[in-house]
Formats: sequence, C-alpha cells, structure tokens
Amino acid sequence: MSTQARVNVSISPLKLGSVKKKPKGWRPLITPQRFRRAVQFGFAAFIAYVTFVHVSVGETGETITASPEAFCPFGGVESIWRFVTSGGKTLPHTHLSNMALGAAFLVTAFFARSAFCGWVCPLGFLQDMTTKFSRFLQKRVPGVRSLVGTVRERGARLAVIDRPLRLLKYALLVWSVTGAAYYGVMVFRDYDPWAALLTIAELTFSFGLLVLIVLVVASLFVERPWCRYACPLGAIGGLVAAAGPVYLKREDAYCKGCAVCDKACPMGINIHTADTIKSPDCTGCLECVDICPRHGALELKVGMPVVGK
Ligand code: SF4
Ligand code: SF4
Repeated sequence: MSTQARVNVSISPLKLGSVKKKPKGWRPLITPQRFRRAVQFGFAAFIAYVTFVHVSVGETGETITASPEAFCPFGGVESIWRFVTSGGKTLPHTHLSNMALGAAFLVTAFFARSAFCGWVCPLGFLQDMTTKFSRFLQKRVPGVRSLVGTVRERGARLAVIDRPLRLLKYALLVWSVTGAAYYGVMVFRDYDPWAALLTIAELTFSFGLLVLIVLVVASLFVERPWCRYACPLGAIGGLVAAAGPVYLKREDAYCKGCAVCDKACPMGINIHTADTIKSPDCTGCLECVDICPRHGALELKVGMPVVGK
C-alpha cells in the first residue's frame, strides 16, 4: 500500500467534510443542546426556589435563609478589592459564597470559555426562552411576525452601532468594580437585573426591575441583548476566556460556507468567514457546532491562544 493510500485509509472513518447524518432511534432525544437546556432550567429552578424560600421565611427569626444574591458570581468579582484589602471581609449583600462562585466563574471561563453564560446563568436562560417564545409567536401570529420584521429592519440600519455598543459592558465592568472598591458598596446593585429578582418576589420596585423588563422585551427582537451589550460579568468572563486555551476552529477545506452557524449564534458572532473563533462574546453554547451540517468544518479545540477574527 502506498503512503498516500495509507493516509486516505486513516482519515476516511472521520468522513471529514461529509454531511452529518441525523441520528436514529432514541439518540435525537438526547442532544447536546437539550442537555444544555436541562442544565439551564435546573439552575433557574434552583434560583427561583431560593428566592421563594428567602422571601417567605425572611432573614428574621431563628431561620436565616440564603438570598439569591448569595449565588451571584459578580458579587464576588465586585468584592475582590475589599476582600484583599480588609483581610477577608466582603461588601454588604455579599458573602464568602460570592467569593467562591466568583473564583469558580473565572476558572471556568479560562478553561471552558464563558460556559457559565451559555450553560448556567438564569438571566441567559430567561433571554433564550423569551427569544424562543418570540419565534413561536412569529410562526403562528402574522401580526407579530410583521412587527418583529419591521423592528429588525429598522434595527438593521443601526448595525453600525452594534460594535461600539458591545463596549458598554466593559465600561459597566470598570465602573462597578472601581465604584465598589472606592465607595465600599455595590454601585451596580440598583441597576442589576439579577438583584431585581428579589424585588419581584417582594412585589417592590427597583431600577434593576426596569432593566429586567427592558431586557425581556428586547429579547423578543434580538437574541441575548443583555449579554451582548451590558453584562459586566459576561465582560470579564469573555476577557478571561479570550486568554484561555479553548477556541473554535473552522476548517475552510470542509466548510461549505452556508453561514448556518452565523444564524444560529445567539451572540451574533461572525463564524462562517473566520478561521479561529475566540471572540470574548462567545458564551460557549456550541449551537454553531451542533448545527453545522459538515463533519470537521467547525470544532472545539484546545491549544495555544490564537488571536481570532
Ligand atoms: S455551518 Fe458554518 S462552519 Fe459549518 S459548513 Fe456552514 S458555514 Fe461552514
Ligand atoms: S460562536 Fe458558537 S459557541 Fe460561541 S456563542 Fe456563537 S453559537 Fe455559541
């Protein structure tokens, strides 16, 4: 057998570039995206339960129940300065749990891209479900379809501000971390839709609740608006992930340029013309990899960080 023939024999089982076939039997029921939805749902249900118990039992009396804020990794990120300079104290409304979750978030971001955003965060799940609901309505109600179409058409004219608007989350990150270090309080808390979960459960109003309502309405028209433009936690996670060893690789030789991956990406990242996808906006949801119709065209890789397009 010639050397060329041996090479062909070794790569043929992978069927690189060939069309992915639909799995048969029970296998389509357990897809990576269904598993991701189950994980997201599990965490959202846990936070809803914690919020319910906290509001019903409260912090008075003999039993003190955890607030949903105790499970926010961003509280840990905001508290880092206070924790280091005060010998272990945290900001008001934060606890050691926030520090532990903040550290776990940053480590996960380094080794698994912003998987917290794509797989765990209840706010991300809320936006995903709102977008799915919008698609459901668009398919069944012609009025909704034309309304969403009109808003998108007008929004497309604002595409030029998409890139600069994505920088807003970094400005919010700097403001919230330096503000917390300077003033000793979480300056972002009043505007934080996560903290607004409490105000919903307590039937009170906060500016964060207004932000939460705006992001839910915006999710009807654009995917993951909070993650794209405003989340300071996603901002720091994305920066850490960009320095990490995990990235997506598009193999030009096997890619057919259909751009299905671009349409599936909830963060609006350009994939189909990039060689390496290492955008700080990537949430590691892997929707693009799952939907790609070609074997080997788009894959998750681990290696030295490479500057992506
Ligand atoms: S989905 Fe994207 S990576 Fe896959 S073949 Fe189409 S353009 Fe290429
Ligand atoms: S590039 Fe792929 S993994 Fe990253 S956010 Fe977009 S669809 Fe998800």
